[in-house]
Amino acid sequence: MSTSPSVISASRQSVLQRTLGVLGGGQLGRMMADAAHRLGVRIVVLDPTPNSPAGQAADKQIVGDFKNAECIAELAAECDVLTVEIEHVNVDALEASAAKCSIQPSPATIRIIQNKFVQKQHLHARGIALGEFAEVVAGGRQGVMDAAARFGYPLMLKAKCLAYDGRGNAVVKSEQDIDAAIASLSGAAAGGLYAEKWVPFTRELAVMVARGLDGKVVSYPAVETFQRNSICHTVVAPAQISGEILARAAAVAEAAIATFDGAGIFGVELFLLADGTVLLNEIAPRPHNSGHYTIEACHTSQFEQHIRAVMGLPLGSPAMRVGASVMVNVLGSGSSDQDFDNTWALCSSSLSLPSSTSIHWYGKEGVRNGRKVGHVTITGPFMPDVQAALRALGPSFADSPV
Ligand code: ATP
Ligand code: MG
Ligand code: MG
Repeated sequence: MSTSPSVISASRQSVLQRTLGVLGGGQLGRMMADAAHRLGVRIVVLDPTPNSPAGQAADKQIVGDFKNAECIAELAAECDVLTVEIEHVNVDALEASAAKCSIQPSPATIRIIQNKFVQKQHLHARGIALGEFAEVVAGGRQGVMDAAARFGYPLMLKAKCLAYDGRGNAVVKSEQDIDAAIASLSGAAAGGLYAEKWVPFTRELAVMVARGLDGKVVSYPAVETFQRNSICHTVVAPAQISGEILARAAAVAEAAIATFDGAGIFGVELFLLADGTVLLNEIAPRPHNSGHYTIEACHTSQFEQHIRAVMGLPLGSPAMRVGASVMVNVLGSGSSDQDFDNTWALCSSSLSLPSSTSIHWYGKEGVRNGRKVGHVTITGPFMPDVQAALRALGPSFADSPV
């Protein structure tokens, strides 16, 4: 049976070739672009670095700052939907485009989450379990001493804004550390500081939660994350914990996301305490490093799920299609050509493994020390096999804490 041309073009307009604009051009946007193309969605990214990781994979990159109102307006002018792959964007400018585009998740959600202190106030007021925290009102030494009088040492001093990969955090072990901690955060201090009571967690968990435009919510299995120097290093999926704790982690994450507006995927970082209590650490309003394993290990990857959610398509199954998975980040070791070669060698060593191992190279220009430049995901039917494959990858992976 033939379909009339008018029916084809109407359905094309409603489903295919709609354009998604993404603020930010890093690896999250790059992996979003791969998923978008499979769904017939055109993708344009906004990032100041020409030929950014996402720009290489997108239909188009606008070279410009995602904090600049004119650049955001230029992106909005050619998009049906706007989303973010980084929360540190100009929310006022995003809001100004609301009449032109659907913005997902909502600018109000991004505004709350981008300030970690405001995010904590928001969640605390809505009954989500958190560690104790307090604003460092004086901004300086006295403010930290006041927090220490309440929480004791060690405590975690955090920048409210522009934080990622632990940049923006400083551990204060005693009164002697206060000045150095404040100085180390001076770059991020303009947005203000706050203090958190030290959380004596036994494990760190994370749950990805997605909400569609129709309000439907799905969550991925809780994973265990391992940080090195506050940077996510290894993710084990599913977390090797009881079903009861897995369910508790999912419940906390879903309750937290229910307090925010808008469609999309959210990464929820959690602390598990020795007595089984689950506390929320922080939320990302976008795909998250702890969800990279979903590309190979789940029916619907976190990137595809995000595209489905923000474009108003039905959500897919978040269930794992393998028994076990481990993801390890590949971090840059320095800026020289030799460092670049060493980092690539590390990543590509997994190509010779017989097990089910995938590499993701982000195409970043430089591989400066500590920068996330790629990741490796291993999948298998059982966790011991996946762990054995990880150990076979060589020393840098073998000392992963799993
Ligand atoms: P991300 O890259 O995940 O956005 P971030 O820079 O926002 O990280 P946080 O998630 O606040 O930083 O903290 C980084 C790590 O520091 C946590 O994963 C955890 O290991 C540790 N940490 C953070 N807050 C506390 C706390 N209150 N007590 C103990 N450890 C903490
Ligand atoms: Mg963070
Ligand atoms: Mg974090």
